[in-house]
Amino acid sequence: MKICSKCNQEKEEDQFKFKDKTHTTRRNICRDCTNEYERQRRQKVKGTKCELHIVLNMEEKKMLQEKAKSCNKDMHGYVRDMLLKSKVVRIKENNRSYDSLTEKVFQNTAELNAIGININQIAHVLNTYGNEGLTKFARSLTDHMKELIRKQKELEREISKWQ
Ligand SMILES: [Zn+2]
Repeated sequence: MKICSKCNQEKEEDQFKFKDKTHTTRRNICRDCTNEYERQRRQKVKGTKCELHIVLNMEEKKMLQEKAKSCNKDMHGYVRDMLLKSKVVRIKENNRSYDSLTEKVFQNTAELNAIGININQIAHVLNTYGNEGLTKFARSLTDHMKELIRKQKELEREISKWQ
């Protein structure tokens, strides 16, 4: 039997936790008192206030003030609600600028393809009727176009992942 130095009650040895992992000596405070102490400490940590700082320019601050005012809140309450209760969503549909971007990329690919075919034909003609310098130049243009098309397709794939 052992007396707890906190509640002064006499309790069985096993009612006192070991001091460390070697399991040689036991604490002087009983399990119940230790648990209660730890519960209170957890509660204290939970309630501890912390601050977050955000940097806005004056215009943004004014915007925030107006938004808060329109909701009948002060800035602090408004920001708190926004952070804790609102949800951040990724916009997938009905986004005009996104749609027009995708469309542009597809148009560009089509144009690049058409130009690429033209250059290829020029290279073929030059090759047949002979002009080494121009043939090489046309070939390098073709390669460049192919590279552009490849990059463009990559961009398309990237964009389609967001759909
Ligand atoms: Zn105790």
